Amino acid sequence: MTISIHPSVDKGVAQTQTDGFSGGQLLCKCPSDKVIVTVTSQSAHNHVCGCSKCWKPDGATFSQVAVVSRDSLSVTSHEDKLKIIDESAAIQRHACTGCGTHMYGRIEDTNHPFYGLDFIHTELSSADGWSAPEFAAFVSSIIETGTPPDQMDAIRNRLKELGLEPYDCLSPPLMDAIATHVAKQRGVLN
Ligand SMILES: [Zn+2]
Ligand SMILES: [Zn+2]
Repeated sequence: MTISIHPSVDKGVAQTQTDGFSGGQLLCKCPSDKVIVTVTSQSAHNHVCGCSKCWKPDGATFSQVAVVSRDSLSVTSHEDKLKIIDESAAIQRHACTGCGTHMYGRIEDTNHPFYGLDFIHTELSSADGWSAPEFAAFVSSIIETGTPPDQMDAIRNRLKELGLEPYDCLSPPLMDAIATHVAKQRGVLN
């Protein structure tokens, strides 16, 4: 059985990152009148994500998602086609009402550990040089969207084979960043 993780990693994770890369345009999948999001920085923490909320291309088990600072992202065409999927979610995903593609996710809660970062799908860009996926997040969550639990060993093994260490939450550096933020809010860390 061939396990499909995401089309951009199924043939192996290409080390696409280039020095000095400073972003590009993300295009929605409408045949015309495309929403265009312009990003003026390299992406960080690119990863595949198994949660049920991130946008995935058809047939993919995981999404592929990265972050950029929100001040490096702007909608430069057809912003009127965007709609927030769930206003109450911590990450407000701005999706194209024409094709359903999530163009970026933004955190408006200034107390959120990741406030200041926007979530993007670098596969929507034809530019070469974006940082490559580094790990797999929320792996167990793919069961919630219908993956049979008995496939999980094979899926985790495939992720390891691809060099994408599987985690059932975020990666240790990101979990540490969240916990540090919480500790500072509580005043137990400076
Ligand atoms: Zn669209
Ligand atoms: Zn996700």
